[in-house]
Formats: sequence, structure tokens, C-alpha cells
Amino acid sequence: MSAVDFSKLNKLTAKSFNDQKAIIKKVMQGRAVKCKVCQKLLTLVPPSSKQVIDKNLPQSGIYCPNGCTDIELDMS
Ligand SMILES: [Zn+2]
Repeated sequence: MSAVDFSKLNKLTAKSFNDQKAIIKKVMQGRAVKCKVCQKLLTLVPPSSKQVIDKNLPQSGIYCPNGCTDIELDMS
């Protein structure tokens, strides 16, 4: 009874992971993708230009201007 339902948790994680992959793919294709939460356009920070962009951005990724979406690109 007290066991955590990991199968449910894993499903949620996999779903959000697939959602993120879909968003990354669209943004990489140059398509405008809106934040699911606030409907603002997501901003792509490519790895090659991270030095010239806002230093507050930790690394390359896809970010919502309001901060509700924050997808880091794993280029390694
Ligand atoms: Zn947002």
C-alpha cells in the first residue's frame, strides 16, 4: 500500500521526454514553437552562439522568456 507507483512515474517522465524531443526537433527545423504554459515563443540558444547571448542563460537550450519551459540541449 505504501509503495510508490513507479510505473506511473516512469510513464510521465517518458512522455515529457518525448514532448521535449518533439519541441527540440521543431525548433531545430526553424519552426516557431510556443510555450505550453504561457504561449510565448520559445527561444533557441544554439551551442555555437551561447557566448554572445545573455550570460544568464546557463547553456545552449530552448527557453521560454517567462522561464516555464527550460530544455537543455545535450550536445555531448
Ligand atoms: Zn512559458
